Amino acid sequence: MEILISHEDEMLALGARLAQACGHSGAIIFLHGELGAGKTTLVRGFLRGLGHAGKVKSPTYTLVEPYEIDQMPIYHFDLYRLAGPQELEYLGIRDFLERNAIFLVEWPERGAHYLPPPDIEVSIDYAGSGRLVRFEAKTATGKNTVTQLGL
Ligand code: ADP
Ligand code: MG
Repeated sequence: MEILISHEDEMLALGARLAQACGHSGAIIFLHGELGAGKTTLVRGFLRGLGHAGKVKSPTYTLVEPYEIDQMPIYHFDLYRLAGPQELEYLGIRDFLERNAIFLVEWPERGAHYLPPPDIEVSIDYAGSGRLVRFEAKTATGKNTVTQLGL
């Protein structure tokens, strides 16, 4: 499924729709796309859509930013600056993954096999001044969510 997004506001709205579609089940969502594609913008929309009123910082240096909304932990990872996949071990990735939580991961390829396979892969590509956003469901959970999105 794919959708053409022509403005940042639409990307925020799409993030909010994705959050609604996830409902109360945990999920692992990989976000692919070049720098400036709009991955963090999508996550910002996701969190705002769930009612998060505070800041959404890009976890460029911290690697992970934790949130908790309606008792659901949400972890926003940005692995761009990960020195190597094993750094995820030091970060305590195993403890994170044991929780029923929503994982939104930018630059997941840098985490290699330290990350479990995702439920959904989102790819964002530049399309003129807009963005082409593709959703690919990888598990039954992911399929449910993408169907809910109804693009
Ligand atoms: P990433 O996390 O993929 O590196 P960001 O979300 O941090 O990207 O930044 C995306 C940038 O592109 C922002 O500065 C945003 O204002 C801009 N932008 C322009 N058009 C769009 C669009 N259609 N969707 C999302 N962001 C857009
Ligand atoms: Mg980002």
